[in-house]
Amino acid sequence: MTVAPELGAAPPVPPPSAAPSVPPGYRLVPALIGRPGAASHVWLPCPDWCVVDHASVREVDVADVDHYGVPVAWSVGSFLLPGVKVLEVDVRVHADPHSDDSRLRSPHVVVSSDDPLDAFLTPAVADVAADGLIALGLAVREQARLARRAGGAVAGV
Ligand SMILES: [Zn+2]
Repeated sequence: MTVAPELGAAPPVPPPSAAPSVPPGYRLVPALIGRPGAASHVWLPCPDWCVVDHASVREVDVADVDHYGVPVAWSVGSFLLPGVKVLEVDVRVHADPHSDDSRLRSPHVVVSSDDPLDAFLTPAVADVAADGLIALGLAVREQARLARRAGGAVAGV
């Protein structure tokens, strides 16, 4: 995600010389915090897997800062609607370090689609979901084989 820096925001200041200790797997990054027109940069620990540019994405409060990994996506179209993604699923790692729910504070996997509800998965549950998707992929291939054998792909595609 690319977000333009907020207009009028001061550039990030260098990290404090007496930097607070950062846990292994984290780095200190500038984060733009505050209300529009009154935001400033503070330094926060950010996990190595996070790809959010916290210096550009303004949050009102430090507690609003979430961490997101690189998204991976899958989509499928339809020969009835050329160029249209009929189904689309995005998956990424997420952590909300200030959540009241310890499961959200801990890195987990979020699966999003057009549905208003996202699926939040522990790594173990994400592994089970991945096994199901692999099985589904094989089943889709079998359905394609059956359709082809039954005379599908008349148009040659
Ligand atoms: Zn982050």
